[in-house]
Amino acid sequence: MPIAKGEAPISNATAAGPAINSLRVLSSGWGEQHNEHRYGSRMPRLWWVLTSRSWVKLPINYFLIDHCNGPVLFDTGLDPAIATDPRYISSPIGRWLLKRIFRLHITDDDRLDRVLASVGFSADGIRTAVFSHLHFDHVGGIAHIPQAKLIVSAKEWAQLSEPHPEHEWVLRDHIEIPKADWQPVAFQPTDDPLLEEFGEVLDVAGDGSMMLLPTPGHSPGSLSMLVRNDAWAPVLLVGDLTYEASLLDKGVLPGTGDKTVLQQSYAKVRRLKQRLPDIVIVPAHDFAAAKDVERATQARR
Ligand SMILES: [Zn+2]
Repeated sequence: MPIAKGEAPISNATAAGPAINSLRVLSSGWGEQHNEHRYGSRMPRLWWVLTSRSWVKLPINYFLIDHCNGPVLFDTGLDPAIATDPRYISSPIGRWLLKRIFRLHITDDDRLDRVLASVGFSADGIRTAVFSHLHFDHVGGIAHIPQAKLIVSAKEWAQLSEPHPEHEWVLRDHIEIPKADWQPVAFQPTDDPLLEEFGEVLDVAGDGSMMLLPTPGHSPGSLSMLVRNDAWAPVLLVGDLTYEASLLDKGVLPGTGDKTVLQQSYAKVRRLKQRLPDIVIVPAHDFAAAKDVERATQARR
């Protein structure tokens, strides 16, 4: 069991059926980003941030996996306070830049506890949340789940030890909050031929149903989660590795991140897709996410 605190591994529900009952796409509002941000640009990031006038919509999604041993979140979306609290981003330059990178459309109804309640779950019941990475639009719900283990890759967590993580939109004020039970984790070597491209992985529940794979590039410690249930097509939640699944197929890189490392992660995911031809790849900011998850979870029924 990779998850600390000396707990026994969550066992697979082999006799009782699949370990995962459902996978849902949850929304914490939507936003607009520059065309160059979503689809890439030859220009340096600062250039398009300051000069671009093209805006495209993006959904701000996260995911609920109803595992037989308790519900698990993959990311937690955006905190609606960002729209109402003028000091949500503490640095003036950060506030100025945010307006030039995103236009955010979020209301109090998009709060994590309310969104969970709307689909019949309680924030109190979330046992584990896994984070694709630490950008503010993925960690915004953690105040509602103080009882949950918050799993992040150790490499991503290491950014908080650097002088100015906020320059990369890792906002310490909203991550290192009281009661947040962060558990930075290291990946472990794997001999699973299916996943060997990734070198090392992490089995969240100890039953193979939620495998974490390192897919850096968007940020240094970004990870993806392979969600498996024998009754479905496999689903790969990729966070912000790409903004649309089709862009990964076409090799179109987004306008931010380390291009070389992104290319390497793209190649690994594409090789995984060759091995699992029915895999459904689901980025956090893809408008097709809900439809694609529905397709995957009905695939083998
Ligand atoms: Zn991000």
